[in-house]
Amino acid sequence: MGDVVPFRKPTASERHKGKTLCRSGFHRWEVVKGNPFDVKTGKLVTRYRCARCGATRVETR
Ligand SMILES: [Zn+2]
Repeated sequence: MGDVVPFRKPTASERHKGKTLCRSGFHRWEVVKGNPFDVKTGKLVTRYRCARCGATRVETR
């Protein structure tokens, strides 16, 4: 098995760089490609993932 993980793991230095911002609530949100349909709510949603700390959030449209 090789590099099958779609997300590149940030290095320790990259993670440290934005740590303060993330902790202050200023995440670097990136849209997560994939199924935009939330099966729980049955609504179309946009998924975001923080490029720095890996936190996720979902925005309902
Ligand atoms: Zn973050």
